[in-house]
Amino acid sequence: MPDRFQVSSRATGVRRTLDVWVYDDVEAMRAAARRFFPEHAYLTTGACCQIPGYRFPRPAGPWFGIIRYFRGQLDTETIVHEIAHAAMEIYFADCTSWDSRTRAHFRGDNEAIAYLVGELASRVTQGMRRAGIRTELETP
Ligand SMILES: [Zn+2]
Repeated sequence: MPDRFQVSSRATGVRRTLDVWVYDDVEAMRAAARRFFPEHAYLTTGACCQIPGYRFPRPAGPWFGIIRYFRGQLDTETIVHEIAHAAMEIYFADCTSWDSRTRAHFRGDNEAIAYLVGELASRVTQGMRRAGIRTELETP
């Protein structure tokens, strides 16, 4: 049975909540993702973010999202990568409109932004670790 908890934010002015599921087994994580979201039928990753987000003509509702992780891939880059996907969906739903020009680039499935944010978060935490600075991301 995966561990499960919720997180939420009001950073956009609207309370948005995410379910976070952490699976022991990568195939169990992928199977759950496939059952929940047909677009992930061919999912081969060790984590994913599943949010209905903004679909024409308005944000999907009831609004919710799920981030799924596999215990074997709980590095900072992966954790933050999936959070970046969620943040983009939330921002797009709450702070833009379907007709916005941002839709071309700034939407939840923008992998370039998710990889950029995840990689930079990983590099910053590595730099802090080398400098002897402890962060909340480290397990005590
Ligand atoms: Zn991604």
